[in-house]
Amino acid sequence: MVKSHRFLPFHLIQKRNGDHSDRWSLKSLGLRIQLGHPPGSECLIPAREFNDDFVVIDRDMVHEVAIDYCGCGHTTKGQAEQLMDQRLWPATLINPKAAPTFRCLEERYPSLLRMVHEWRHSRMLNRAGRGHDPERVDKTGVGECALLRPPCLHPGMNMAEGWENAPAETQHIHTLNIGLDANYRLKRKDMSSDAADPGLCKGFASSIYDPPFRERSLKHDMKQSWDHSRDRELTRVQLKSNMDRWLRGQSFNTKALNLLSTLHKKISAAMEEYLKAISPLLVLGDLIGEKNVDKVF
Ligand SMILES: [Zn+2]
Ligand SMILES: [Zn+2]
Repeated sequence: MVKSHRFLPFHLIQKRNGDHSDRWSLKSLGLRIQLGHPPGSECLIPAREFNDDFVVIDRDMVHEVAIDYCGCGHTTKGQAEQLMDQRLWPATLINPKAAPTFRCLEERYPSLLRMVHEWRHSRMLNRAGRGHDPERVDKTGVGECALLRPPCLHPGMNMAEGWENAPAETQHIHTLNIGLDANYRLKRKDMSSDAADPGLCKGFASSIYDPPFRERSLKHDMKQSWDHSRDRELTRVQLKSNMDRWLRGQSFNTKALNLLSTLHKKISAAMEEYLKAISPLLVLGDLIGEKNVDKVF
């Protein structure tokens, strides 16, 4: 039975047991899948998969299988490549424990993506305890599932309270600049409409809910259109305001400061080189009684 299934490792064996039949996996009957060798040929030193608890997700079910990598040197390929050669897509590169079959991904990829997307969304709601709210998920408020980010400024926690009452000219000391433009650039990319592709998460967590964002952007748009020139204009305005702030000394531009210090270092290194090169020349000039020999060159 095992021998006849060497090329059909994802079959299930049914064994008659009185009035019903039991299902046996080929692994439990002793079938091992040898990778790194042509099908049917043996490896002299099979390297048993770590922990021997590999699962293959096929289009019909999840199979527990016994995997042996090649350990005899017949192939130089790593674990992942040996799996891929058998049309198995490893979940990770080092000691993978699971792999869907290529045919499973080919046929079910959109469904899998959708399931993962939905799963992540429902996990987020679950972790935020939304299932315990009598008003349920529909009444989840904007930002309700978002986590408090330690790097962000929280008055009373990592910044002084009452910053908004500080005089305008010193309010800037409370500014925190992490990136030139963070996620909002992504929001301005071309994308489908919310009507055509409604999101599950309507601003529940950290990302902005699109319709109000668009509405607001359009309201402030002179041309009342969502086009690339507006995109560029936004970037330009953003860059300009960042630059202005930087020039006014209201924020740190670490990159520019780093660049400046690198330039300074390079200039002083060049000066040193120059002085080193010029000193023998000056000594020589002294010897032949020629002043300003460095000016000649
Ligand atoms: Zn069979
Ligand atoms: Zn081998």
